[in-house]
Amino acid sequence: MVCFFGNQNIATEDHNKNGFSYVSEILKKEPDTIVELVAEFDDICTGCKKLKKDKNGSVWGKDMSCTSSQREDVVRDVQVSSAKVLKALGLNYGSKITWRELVKLLSERIPRLNDPMIGGEKNQSNYEAGFKILQTNNTSKRQ
Ligand code: SF4
Repeated sequence: MVCFFGNQNIATEDHNKNGFSYVSEILKKEPDTIVELVAEFDDICTGCKKLKKDKNGSVWGKDMSCTSSQREDVVRDVQVSSAKVLKALGLNYGSKITWRELVKLLSERIPRLNDPMIGGEKNQSNYEAGFKILQTNNTSKRQ
């Protein structure tokens, strides 16, 4: 999400651009939006063209699946990366935190995207650009 603020072209496949745009508009208007960290399909997924109804459900949700949720290797890599991110942030699935606080924590505790599953080095400049925009936006909203 931070990278998307820095460069909207990162959602190149277009399948989840709607989801990123939908969430970023909410966060832009209200940086104190409370974010809940979930292990399932999230608010970005709700706009994704790959999300389909599926009576069998999937690891990330009842009655829904997507191409990613059906790939064991992707699911495993996402779970491993998410666990590392949560540990670094001192948060858990189910934690609730304002977007403003989450951005601050990310910038302090995960300054570099050295894991490809969370963007990787190729997105470092987008990540940093995102922080600049967000920190300006979040500060001006507070005044
Ligand atoms: S996890 Fe699935 S539904 Fe969510 S953004 Fe990725 S492909 Fe789309």
